[in-house]
Amino acid sequence: MEYLLCWRRCATSLLKRSCSQTRQLSAALHSAAGSAGDPGLGGQRPLSVRIVEVGPRDGLQNEPQAVPTAVKVELIRRLAGAGLRTIEAASFVSAKWVPQMADGAAVLAALPRDAGVRYPVLVPNMRGLRGAIDAGAEEVAVFGAASEAFSRRNINCSIEESFARFQPVVEAAREAGLRVRGYVSCVCGCPYEGPVRPSAVAAVARRLHKLGCYEISLGDTIGVGTPGVVRAMLEAVQREVPASALAIHCHDTYGQALANILTALQMGVRVVDASVAGLGGCPYARGASGNVATEDVVYMLHGLNVETGVELSALVDAGQYICDKLNRANMSKVAQAMLAKRQAEVAAAEEK
Ligand SMILES: [Zn+2]
Repeated sequence: MEYLLCWRRCATSLLKRSCSQTRQLSAALHSAAGSAGDPGLGGQRPLSVRIVEVGPRDGLQNEPQAVPTAVKVELIRRLAGAGLRTIEAASFVSAKWVPQMADGAAVLAALPRDAGVRYPVLVPNMRGLRGAIDAGAEEVAVFGAASEAFSRRNINCSIEESFARFQPVVEAAREAGLRVRGYVSCVCGCPYEGPVRPSAVAAVARRLHKLGCYEISLGDTIGVGTPGVVRAMLEAVQREVPASALAIHCHDTYGQALANILTALQMGVRVVDASVAGLGGCPYARGASGNVATEDVVYMLHGLNVETGVELSALVDAGQYICDKLNRANMSKVAQAMLAKRQAEVAAAEEK
């Protein structure tokens, strides 16, 4: 009994301490938003963060099994229903290399277009861009790497050659009235080269921004970054590209994603990429986790009084829908906890 009382006292004081720490962190974040010079986010208004949901593309592209078009469409519909307003929907890459994404046009054709939801699609080259435009895409994304070795292994060309390849793609997309997002992969480390210099990331981000990409998503593709590495990387990038044009794309391979995202938020980044249920895995370490789960990001942000427009419970349902269809484990810690709690509540109600 004494032990129990003691435990309760400890738990209560821990809770109180963590509540006041949350308030401090939240206040620091909100005042950092004010000092970042972004009047739309700081000051009296509540801080908000835009989440770019990448599960249906980045996630499903890296899942081993093919997913029927109807299931992809239903997943995207549920994600939009949960309040997500930017959902990466497909990839117009060669079906020979990425058979999981061969149905991009069919997916786009089936999506409702009236709810103020954006559906960016990935395009590696002019052929992909033409396919995306024909399918009615309004926003496309191009991707480059901060690591020379990764660029050569992943897209078969040097960083310099990759720019020669996507410069005309970005120009043609903008001429056609499309918005263009740029991805930089390996911003914290490369599976072939090891650590990547912040200046190398900044150089690629700067070029993408100059080309006309409205937003640069900085990807820790193998999830090796820690908050100190992310801070140094962002300091270098922000000397070249304003925080308002940056997004952070973290993988949770080493369990650092939320800490890294928080670091980016504290440095003024207001767009976070995430994948529902942690879809995607890690192509460079079989069995390891990949994309940070959207549910976990939303839970953290709401805990910091940051608005996302997302309804967490509906998001958890969307994540579990696709996990059931793929017969895979849900990689979101928050989803696991909320689903277990729901089950316990159902069991308790049945016992009564
Ligand atoms: Zn990713």
